[in-house]
Amino acid sequence: MKKIFFSIIFIVSVSIVSAQKTYILCGKLIDTKTGKVEQKKTIVVEGKKITAVLNGFVQPKSRIDKIINLKNKVVLPGLIDMHVHLEMEMNPKKYLERFTSNDADIALNASVYAKTTLLAGFTTVRDLGGSGVNVSLRNAIQQGKIAGPRIFTAEKSLATTGGHADPTNGMSNKLMGNPGPKEGVVNSVDDAKKAVRQRYKNGADVIKITATGGVLSVAKSGHNPQFTVEEIKAISQTAKDYGMHVAAHAHGDEGMQRAILGGVKTIEHGTLMSKNTMKLMLKHDVYLVPTITAGVEVTEKAKIKGYFPEIIVPKALAIGPKIQATFGKAYQFGVGIAFGTDAGVFKHGENAREFGYMVDAGMPAIKAIQSATITNAKILQMDKEIGQTKVGFFADIIAVNDDPTKNIKTLEKVVFVMKEGKVFKE
Ligand SMILES: [Zn+2]
Repeated sequence: MKKIFFSIIFIVSVSIVSAQKTYILCGKLIDTKTGKVEQKKTIVVEGKKITAVLNGFVQPKSRIDKIINLKNKVVLPGLIDMHVHLEMEMNPKKYLERFTSNDADIALNASVYAKTTLLAGFTTVRDLGGSGVNVSLRNAIQQGKIAGPRIFTAEKSLATTGGHADPTNGMSNKLMGNPGPKEGVVNSVDDAKKAVRQRYKNGADVIKITATGGVLSVAKSGHNPQFTVEEIKAISQTAKDYGMHVAAHAHGDEGMQRAILGGVKTIEHGTLMSKNTMKLMLKHDVYLVPTITAGVEVTEKAKIKGYFPEIIVPKALAIGPKIQATFGKAYQFGVGIAFGTDAGVFKHGENAREFGYMVDAGMPAIKAIQSATITNAKILQMDKEIGQTKVGFFADIIAVNDDPTKNIKTLEKVVFVMKEGKVFKE
């Protein structure tokens, strides 16, 4: 009896003192807040959180603690991509897949894309629209069942009839049916409210609207305005009621202005943005999510005969090449930039290509890194939890071989990934 009693005491005391800590020895550490590259730091991780950031290489006191040696690496917080589509990856059969894929096919593919994204150093993403499988994907990742980034999902994008995210565009009249708010198609203020509430009910974290035409939909215009200001206002106000912000896909200037006046938080792509619209962005505290990589990719693919349906080719060639230059002008103008790529339009895991294009267009490397960390954390209202390696923050930590403030391309080869204290790549 006595023996059992003591062994119970022993087990209890061991389990109290034995919360394992991980000591990450960082040769260099990027402070995303100050923009400084610090030398020789030790990050201490307990459970899912960072509990200390110490000067020098500090050895653990307890034998059960773990050391991760990144002495010859450059460490930074996990990256955040504000625009991905984890349910799909562009390929020449994409348009046929709308008729052949089951939800199970989409889910299995999405789980692979999610893992690829995480291993590329992106520990948080905003999924801006799919079929709704993305909600289940988010949940499975959250529950630790599969590997992937933390997801803020829009579930299904909202469009108007025939608009960029109308799910039956390009189908025969027989198959078109009459999609409404339940399917994410809106044609009035009332529809707008209902569609947002439906997204909330379905498990969305954020609302995505297609404020103008788009490149990859089977429709003629890639830039015309597609919502009224009143409809967008109803969407933004309803989204706010449910604790969500609104992201607006927009290539054309008029649709962009309506979206900003309607109360959205981010403009996706922003291709044909005028100076007046840039002024409006500043006035209303709206951020541009550039997606330059997607622009580069659709331009290249449009040159391959038969890759896209014919109606898409002229749109891709007109819009794709303009995104990078517009980004450069908007940045110089002072518009807030939120890193985002549209991954899925190109290969998942290549998200960091965007950094190179941003730097080529005139943004300093450290600013590009800050846009993918602190800026995005702020928009997601997670700025006390992600985007920095500070005490109390989630242990979302990545490492690269080179100093990315001097060689931005190094971010395309992430060598270490930890998310919420768990190592996924070492
Ligand atoms: Zn997109």
